[in-house]
Amino acid sequence: MEFSLIDRIRQLTAQHRDDVRLGIGDDAALLTVPPGQELAVAIDTMVAGVHFPVDTAAADVGWKALAVNLSDLAAMGATPAWALLALSMPDADTAFVDGFAQGFAQLAQSYRLALVGGDTTRGALTISVAVHGFVPPGKALTRAGAQAGDAVLVTGTLGDAAAGLQCVQRNHHRDDAQARYLVERLNRPTPRIAAGLALRGHASACIDVSDGLLADLGHICVSSRVGADIEAALLPRSSALLDLFDDSTSREFALSGGDDYELCFTVPPQYVAAVQADLAKLGCGATRIGRIVQGEGVRVRDGEGHWLESARQGWDHFQA
Ligand code: ADP
Ligand code: MG
Repeated sequence: MEFSLIDRIRQLTAQHRDDVRLGIGDDAALLTVPPGQELAVAIDTMVAGVHFPVDTAAADVGWKALAVNLSDLAAMGATPAWALLALSMPDADTAFVDGFAQGFAQLAQSYRLALVGGDTTRGALTISVAVHGFVPPGKALTRAGAQAGDAVLVTGTLGDAAAGLQCVQRNHHRDDAQARYLVERLNRPTPRIAAGLALRGHASACIDVSDGLLADLGHICVSSRVGADIEAALLPRSSALLDLFDDSTSREFALSGGDDYELCFTVPPQYVAAVQADLAKLGCGATRIGRIVQGEGVRVRDGEGHWLESARQGWDHFQA
């Protein structure tokens, strides 16, 4: 479509890498995978009004479109390298494209990630980003290796993004610093790349929490053919979340809210302390929230030892 738009994106995201033989501008990019590495690839699409509120700032949309993909690489223990961007927009909105590219580039820079190509079309505002990363053969983290007896841990805090969405939608506490923190967690999630790398060789299974803890830990359980018992009292919740929402609402957000992009992973009990020390050094920390058991499904127990049944299972776009 518009060459000037593509040029703007190219200039604003410029990042030199020796493994990019040919980037934006030809019919395809030419890339060199480092010898002895496996390529990890992932793609995620964000639709305006579905995955982000329509009035979200362009720079936040750009950041988030990349962040949600980097989070998938983090969950695999891969090092990010390249991205492709397919952008559909109702019209050639240069202000939006500039803001978008700046937000995208801000996050890309921290990983020296190069945008190597894409596609630009007219249509409803929809953004697909595909990312490529490297991982030593056989070392990727998957959803499949959890075993009964393993501890279940999660990085950072849970429920902040769902709370942030509620602050935006209900215009709650708009000028409050804590509400701003929660909205920032919604709009600018931090992909846990360093944590994913640190977990290689230690975690038996790993997933990023995009659709809510119960749903995503449920995926680990299905792939690993195990169950999980979670202690609600152990769920890590930020002080902003606890201060602005009551206990049961914040617990519900932590269990079922989407968009946090923390890592949920399992570790044999003897490695828990070492892994927690490693992740504490990386700034995000990791909290033990339960354990893997024989059987199937995720169960949640409250502080008094009662099993909870109410918790929603998480976000499903095709649910009735
Ligand atoms: P073609 O029709 O051959 O696919 P395009 O005009 O779609 O070529 O794209 C021209 C070049 O610009 C290609 O290298 C393509 O990868 C790149 N490109 C197009 N849109 C984007 C975008 N949104 N982000 C990054 N690169 C893009
Ligand atoms: Mg094209």
